[in-house]
Amino acid sequence: MAGKQGQGGGVAARAAAPAWDYAPAPESRDIVTIAAEYGLFTDGEFGPAADGRQFPTINPATEEPLARVALAGQPDVDRAVAAARAAYQRVWGPMPGAERAKYLYRIARILQERAREFAVLESLDNGKPIRESRDVDVPLAAAHFFYHAGWADKLEYAGLGQAPRPLGVAGQVIPWNFPLLMAAWKLAPALAAGNTCVLKPAETTPLTALLLAEVCQQAGLPPGVVNVLTGAGEAGAALVSHPGVDKIAFTGSTEVGKEISRAIAGTGKRLTLELGGKAANVVFDDAPVDQAVEGIVNGIFFNQGHVCCAGSRLLVQESVADIVVDRLKDRLATLRLGDPLDKNTDIGAINSREQLDKISELTAAGDAEGAQRWSPPCQLPEKGYWFPPTVFTGVSQSYRIAREEIFGPVLSVLTFRTPEEAVAKANNTPYGLSAGVWTEKGSRILWMAQRLRAGVVWANTYNRFDPASPFGGYRESGFGREGGRHGLAAYLDA
Ligand code: NDP
Repeated sequence: MAGKQGQGGGVAARAAAPAWDYAPAPESRDIVTIAAEYGLFTDGEFGPAADGRQFPTINPATEEPLARVALAGQPDVDRAVAAARAAYQRVWGPMPGAERAKYLYRIARILQERAREFAVLESLDNGKPIRESRDVDVPLAAAHFFYHAGWADKLEYAGLGQAPRPLGVAGQVIPWNFPLLMAAWKLAPALAAGNTCVLKPAETTPLTALLLAEVCQQAGLPPGVVNVLTGAGEAGAALVSHPGVDKIAFTGSTEVGKEISRAIAGTGKRLTLELGGKAANVVFDDAPVDQAVEGIVNGIFFNQGHVCCAGSRLLVQESVADIVVDRLKDRLATLRLGDPLDKNTDIGAINSREQLDKISELTAAGDAEGAQRWSPPCQLPEKGYWFPPTVFTGVSQSYRIAREEIFGPVLSVLTFRTPEEAVAKANNTPYGLSAGVWTEKGSRILWMAQRLRAGVVWANTYNRFDPASPFGGYRESGFGREGGRHGLAAYLDA
């Protein structure tokens, strides 16, 4: 692809030029029909916003407009919440769990049947590689519906009290990094527990949530059980403060999470917050280096680093730091950046101009503070939003790139000498969402896991997700859990 040269250099001399290259293998877009306009999904029907306003959604890899989408305002929030309340009282609340389960199974099956369509649409609207939307986002979204379908008729046996009851109407606000998957994380447990939902997808990625609304129609879900309001932060804020909502579930930035906490303080609404992170991925000198390098790459370059639990701080034991960083650079030189629909692509587009600006600003701060920046040579496409995989070495704990969530393909490397120092550095963050440990010693894994203040600790792996496993954080990473039995508790009055 013709384009600008990525920053860095140096690697060309290190990594021998490949003897052969992959031919392009683009996934066809034909499987998806994108309408020119989309409405809001309320009470089982698609329709325009009350004031007729719309906003464009674009493909971040090309800047091409994909569709115009209804922009929800206060009257639309009122209508959606009223529809959800009526559906809760008349249909979904009284329905036996075994019946609710059938709808969830149906949604899961349709998601599987339409998996390619969802994967292509997600990559177009979000910019993530098709390899990831096809192999991670969509199968996991279906798995969440399957898993929670299994719970719908067994809630009395979940260890959450004898007769746990649903909370009522759930207002759910989700981000743009895993649009379909976050919708599934929110909707599946809420519906299994007997709640009805009003979902607000992120402004830059509304399309798969709307396709999921279509799937709800296809599954015959009673009107009003799921409502989808596309729009801006104001629609999210209106939903959060609506008196007809009983429970708020939010995934997004710590800043907005704090705003939401303030907005609902004293209202009695239940709240779960899944916010930012600055996870440490800790590599000890006895770790298998090649395996650890794969884990580091997966930890920070998966989904362009737009991952709340990304391993954005590499803590590597000083005695192996040089070899680990060297092998990491060699590996990064083999990553392919470009067309998200190409099945060979490893790194796709940055989701929006705003996010690209934020990554550029924070990485510039890394340069200014004295860290050494490195990126493999790679061609950045002329159009769209792109950032090369980037590694900063010589990072001190006080630097902004070691403290703030960059939410991009940028790794900060720090070193340590002793396990105690690794723990102290890993925990030296206001966040507490996730961590990784790489070592061949089981006893050291357990020792570390007891001391790391993180909701999830992965050992000799990273970014592994399962609907049965609770996920969530401490401190500025939020509270409450999603997934597993613990995730159900957030939607039940037990
Ligand atoms: P936000 O937290 O602003 O957005 C998350 C969701 O909340 C979106 O649907 C957004 O709508 C909505 N929203 C925005 N303001 C409000 C409000 N006052 N009340 C209720 N809902 C609201 O994240 P951004 O997309 O702005 O990203 C900013 C930064 O946040 C990123 O750079 C990244 O560092 C971090 N982030 C972290 C995520 C995580 O999972 N930990 C996920 C996403 C971002 P809209 O899209 O219309 O603004």
